[in-house]
Amino acid sequence: MEKLKQRIAEEGVIVSDQVLKLDALLNHQVDPQLTMEMGREFARRFKLEQVTRVVTVESSGIAVAFAAAYELGVPLVFARRKKTLLAEADMLCERVPSFTKGIVTDILISRDFISENDRILFIDDIIANGDAAKGLIKIIKRSGAELVGAGIVVEKTFQAGGRTIREQGIRLESLVQIASLADGKITFA
Ligand code: 5GP
Repeated sequence: MEKLKQRIAEEGVIVSDQVLKLDALLNHQVDPQLTMEMGREFARRFKLEQVTRVVTVESSGIAVAFAAAYELGVPLVFARRKKTLLAEADMLCERVPSFTKGIVTDILISRDFISENDRILFIDDIIANGDAAKGLIKIIKRSGAELVGAGIVVEKTFQAGGRTIREQGIRLESLVQIASLADGKITFA
């Protein structure tokens, strides 16, 4: 997606060698037209997978996951994040570190909205170390559902997340890959 790359180059703000702020188009403000294009692209890539539900983690994955779910004609389920774990019946839960917030949160999905009959497409905004993705993958496995793949808007390939997910044999598709944020510039892969 050349257009997305261009928007990232123009509107992304480098916070450090590790972190790129994408508030203008992904993490604070959302461009509906661009987001629907992302959703169409994910739907195109996974259209043969007979997806029954799209799953993401709140909050920044929701807009693009909605777009993908809309294009695939299936429901979107977003995992909720909570700071404390009081065991809740019928909730599947995993504890994950948050890359940007420096805290640990629990992500939860109700068993009402994910089951062994599902073929799940996981969608998220950015992958760094892959902790959020790994937590969600564990939840999907425990539900008995099948994970058909992961669609990520921005993969930072200099961090290990994308690679470790693929090493688990999971199909991970990213729309834009960033190889480096060093020297104050965004280098695309
Ligand atoms: P991970 O669990 O893969 O380490 O981090 C994934 C989550 O952390 C993403 O959903 C995203 O919200 C946030 N994140 C990771 N890296 C960045 C970054 O460079 N910029 C922003 N804005 N968020 C990030």
